[in-house]
Amino acid sequence: MQSVTDIILTGDRTTGKLHLGHYIGSLRSRTELQHEYRTFIILADVQALTTHFDHPDVLATSVRQVALDYLAAGIDPNQATLFIQSMIPEIAELAQYFSMFVTVNSLRHNPTVKNEAQQRGGQDMYYGFLGYPVSQAADIAICKATLVPAGDDQIPHIEQARKIVRRFNELYRPVLPEPRILQGGRLTGLDGNSKMSKSLDNALYLDSSAEEVSTKLVRAKTDPARIRKHDPGHPDICPVYEYHRYFRQDDMSDIHEQCSKGAIGCTDCKRLAAHAVNMLLEPMRERRHAFAARMGDVDEILIEGTRKARTTARETMSEVRDAMGIGYF
Ligand code: ATP
Ligand code: MG
Repeated sequence: MQSVTDIILTGDRTTGKLHLGHYIGSLRSRTELQHEYRTFIILADVQALTTHFDHPDVLATSVRQVALDYLAAGIDPNQATLFIQSMIPEIAELAQYFSMFVTVNSLRHNPTVKNEAQQRGGQDMYYGFLGYPVSQAADIAICKATLVPAGDDQIPHIEQARKIVRRFNELYRPVLPEPRILQGGRLTGLDGNSKMSKSLDNALYLDSSAEEVSTKLVRAKTDPARIRKHDPGHPDICPVYEYHRYFRQDDMSDIHEQCSKGAIGCTDCKRLAAHAVNMLLEPMRERRHAFAARMGDVDEILIEGTRKARTTARETMSEVRDAMGIGYF
């Protein structure tokens, strides 16, 4: 479905380090797509404030932490443009223009906004939190991005971004492309109950040591119906089998069969899954180690990426202002 002219925008809120769920949701596909398409990756520190405005200390460390996660995962700064949201004021300007014609009701009814508001206690919503999809539409539009690799919770946001861009083009002039989502997988957490997530304490982080991976995986929940070692298992509902599917390089039909017949115990199965995760993380550990030893270079990558993204943002905004008739002189 991708076309050679696609431009990619993707990224993460900088609220802490990344885990395997982020990898499966979109980071994995970014490392592949960066070689084929113009790719922008946003460190969304302004959007981090929608939930962390009272913890600015988290943002300060997270920007570099997430940048290291990207570089460790194989994002190549010569291929992808890594940039910091707060350092591109044109994004805030575009979000402001969009906000004039986005209704509060359409934001309130956005299923992901609703869900996340409920998770946060359903209290009165902050203006910035409610406006998150508008700000995200501006991130995408400012890069003229057409493709957004993201997890399934982002579907409503990308749909809303499409509508916002369409409306802008109808109202003024067709200068902004409509983006599509490139949907990644969804990884279950170690508790087996919900998706892997920082705040649920059920995550395996990309910077885990081999020992941490093994220790955490050994404690992971498995098929609840399987009590004794030789009981037949149900791999299709077992989170550990899900890790085999996502992380093992070879054919998993043997594990599926052995588990279903009760021929392999959960502990052995978890050991194999831990090995597969460690095979993925080992090259990441090496790259992380190398980049962490020269954080000055990491800062340079961010400064240079932000400079490049800002050039694009200025070009887009000049077209946007022209289309709106507010470029006066
Ligand atoms: P929090 O617990 O603070 O909500 P989180 O760990 O769920 O944090 P987010 O910042 O909410 O992480 O997620 C960023 C994006 O990464 C999400 O929009 C989603 O697309 C993707 N993502 C996060 N967790 C997973 C997961 N377990 N599986 C697939 N994608 C995920
Ligand atoms: Mg989340």
